Amino acid sequence: MKTITEPARDIDVIHETDVLVVGSGPGGLSAALAAARAGVEVTLVERFGCFGGNITVVGVEGMHWYRHEQTVESNGIAREFEEAAKTAGAAVPESQSLSYEIDSEGFKLVADRMVEEAGIHAMLHRSFVAPIMEGDRITGIITESKAGREALLAKVVIDATGDADVAHRAGAPTEKAPREDLMAASVMFHVAGVDRQKFLEGVKADPQTYADWGGGGEWNIETTGKEDEMFSPFLHKPFAQAIEAGMIPPHLNTIAGTWGAAHETGELTYMNLIHLGNCDGTDPDDLTRNEIEGRRQAMLAIEALRAFTPGCEGIRLRNFGMTLGIRDTRKVDTAYRMTEWDVREQGRFEDSIGIFPEFIDGYGVLILPTTGRYFEIPYRNLLPKRIKGLLVSGRATGGEKIAHAATRNMACCAVIGQGAGVAAALSIKSNRELEDIDIGSIQRELERQDSRVH
Ligand SMILES: Cc1cc2nc3c(=O)[nH]c(=O)nc-3n(C[C@H](O)[C@H](O)[C@H](O)COP(=O)(O)OP(=O)(O)OC[C@H]3O[C@@H](n4cnc5c(N)ncnc54)[C@H](O)[C@@H]3O)c2cc1C
Repeated sequence: MKTITEPARDIDVIHETDVLVVGSGPGGLSAALAAARAGVEVTLVERFGCFGGNITVVGVEGMHWYRHEQTVESNGIAREFEEAAKTAGAAVPESQSLSYEIDSEGFKLVADRMVEEAGIHAMLHRSFVAPIMEGDRITGIITESKAGREALLAKVVIDATGDADVAHRAGAPTEKAPREDLMAASVMFHVAGVDRQKFLEGVKADPQTYADWGGGGEWNIETTGKEDEMFSPFLHKPFAQAIEAGMIPPHLNTIAGTWGAAHETGELTYMNLIHLGNCDGTDPDDLTRNEIEGRRQAMLAIEALRAFTPGCEGIRLRNFGMTLGIRDTRKVDTAYRMTEWDVREQGRFEDSIGIFPEFIDGYGVLILPTTGRYFEIPYRNLLPKRIKGLLVSGRATGGEKIAHAATRNMACCAVIGQGAGVAAALSIKSNRELEDIDIGSIQRELERQDSRVH
C-alpha cells in the first residue's frame, strides 16, 4: 500500500483534568457522574453533539426491558437514568416489561442536566484520535475537531468509546471476532402516523411471544423455556407476508424484530427491525455500506408494515438514529475476562463493583431475569493489561461471547461505568495506582452512591 509521512507538529494542551472520560454512552456518562460525585475534577469528551451514546445517537430506548417482578436491581446510576427520564417526562411505559422506555430525544436534555449538575467539564464535538503516553502510562489524549488537533491531559483516562479506541491505540491488548461472527449492526428508526388503538388491538388479537423469535433470520434463539410463553412486541409476520407478495426480496428474511412503545401521539419508537451482518464497526467502509443499506431496508420494512399491519396503514418515517447501531467490536483483554459461566451461573467476586440481573441477550441466547438470579462484576474486569492510568468501561470490557451478551446491555454498562468512575476518583484521592486501590473503599463509595455491590 502507498503511504505518506505525516509531519510531526506541536499541539496545544488546551485542558488538564483529574479524570478524563472518552465517550458518553451508558458506560461513559455513568463513569463521569460517579467520578464527579466522588469529588474529583471530571472532563467528558464525546465525538457527537449530545451525551447518551446508543440511547441518544442510535435511538436504543429499551434500557430496562428485562425487568419483571422478581428481577433484582443494580440500583445506582443505571436506575437513576430511568428515574430522571421519567421525572423529565422523557419516558413512557415499555411494552414487554415493568420498565419505562427512555425517549431518545428527551434523554439528551436529561443527560445535559445531569452533566451540568455534577459539575462535569463537557467537551462535545471532539473525537479521540491518539493517546498521549509516557512509557506504558497514558497521560492524556489528542482530539480532532473543527479546531484541529488539541491535547488534553489527565491523571486517569476512562475508555468508554464502546470500541476500545483508546485502549487499542494505547497498546493494550484487544480482541475482535472475525467480521462474520460479530453481532449484526442495525439502522434504528422511529415512525409516526400510527393509529395506536387499532395497532394495539392487532397486537392483542395475535400476541407474539419470545418463542416466536425463532421465526427465522437473525432471530433463532435458545431460551431456558420459561421465556417461551411470555409476550414479546415482536414483528415478523408482516415481513414474511411482504416477501410472499414480492415487496421484499426473499434474502431479506432478516427483517424482523421488536417495537418499543406505541405513543399516544401516534409514534411507534425503537423499531429494532434491521439486522446487517458482516459489519465491522471499526471499519468506516463497512459503516458506510451498512448505513446506506440499512436505510434502504428500513423503508422496505415501513412499506410492509403499511400493507400488512393493522393501524400502520398511514405511517411515515419520523427519523433514523443519527448513526448506525453497533453491538460488538473490540474487547479489551482485561485483568479478569468475564466468562459464560459467570453470567449463567451467578458469578461472585470479592472485588465486585456492581451486580446485574441474569439477563443474556445475544449470540442466539435469550434469558430473562425472572427469578431473582444475578451476577457480580469484578473490578479487575475494568483494568486493561499493560497500560497504566487507564480503565475501560461499557461494552468493551473483557469477556467471552456469551458474557458480552449480558454485559453489553446498557444498564450493565452503566453499572460498570459507575465502578470505573469511583475507582478513578479514589485512585487520585488516595494517590495509588489503579490496580492498588483498596477494594473496600471503592465498594463503600459505590454504596454511598446507592449502587448495589453484592
Ligand atoms: C441496534 C441496537 C439495539 C440494542 N438494543 C439494546 C436494548 O434494547 N437494551 C440494551 O440494554 N442494550 C441494547 N443494545 C446494546 C447497547 O446499546 C450497547 O451495548 C451500549 O450502549 C454500550 O454502551 P457504551 O457506553 O459502552 O457504548 P455506546 O453507547 O456506544 O457509547 C459510546 C460513546 O462513545 C462515543 N465515541 C466513540 N468513539 C469515540 C471517539 N473516538 N472519540 C470520542 N467519542 C467517541 C460515541 O459517540 C458514543 O457516544 C443495543 C445496541 C444496538 C446497536
